[in-house]
Amino acid sequence: MLLTFDDGYANNLRAIPIMKAYNVPATFFVATGNVASGEPFWWDVLYRERSRRGTAKSQMVAERQRLKSLNNREIKAHLRSLFGEDVFTSQSDADRPMSVAELQRIASEPLATIGNHTVDHELLPRIPLPDARRQIIECQEMLQDWTGSAPRVIAYPNGVHNTSIIKEASDAGLVLGVTSIRGKLRLPLDDSQRMRLPRYAMIGGQTLPRHCKVVIAPFSMSGIKHAILSRRQQSALP
Ligand SMILES: [Zn+2]
Repeated sequence: MLLTFDDGYANNLRAIPIMKAYNVPATFFVATGNVASGEPFWWDVLYRERSRRGTAKSQMVAERQRLKSLNNREIKAHLRSLFGEDVFTSQSDADRPMSVAELQRIASEPLATIGNHTVDHELLPRIPLPDARRQIIECQEMLQDWTGSAPRVIAYPNGVHNTSIIKEASDAGLVLGVTSIRGKLRLPLDDSQRMRLPRYAMIGGQTLPRHCKVVIAPFSMSGIKHAILSRRQQSALP
């Protein structure tokens, strides 16, 4: 099993004592631009500001989906114009990216592996290929600088990828790629599987025992339903 945490939130540090207690390794995928700037992720800013204004959850979800057609810089400019210039300020450890020092502390843990999650959490197939390449390579370089070694594994932001993105990631030295397509694989992996690993996301208002049951089950209707939905979501992107 490969346990993963995405984005690089400061509260990922809380996983370390639990990993040690159970001797379980985990991989932390870090968007290095947010670590460098200390700015919260745009979807947390949107959620905070819309919640304050009493916007319905369904409307928020629709707005978040619409914004995903823009790149990170455009989204941030849009949210600043809507909610104010100082809106990209973290409110607590719940929406704060880890600092460089915190990243280094996690990276120094023998059970922790650091992974690439691009610089700006861009949806890679949606931006021009040279920009996608830069997002992957600069993230590798920043993590190399901060931790002393470049990652071998990437989680494509939102799990979205295509064959060109896989080639760019491979060229940058990455040997494993993680998607958001729901599912599991058996070892050993073959070459066609290495750069598109499926995952199970523990989100969606389920209880922990329920999540565990679905993950362990060799067959589950809800597993199949979500596998189809996640594939459809991914193939809706270019
Ligand atoms: Zn992410």
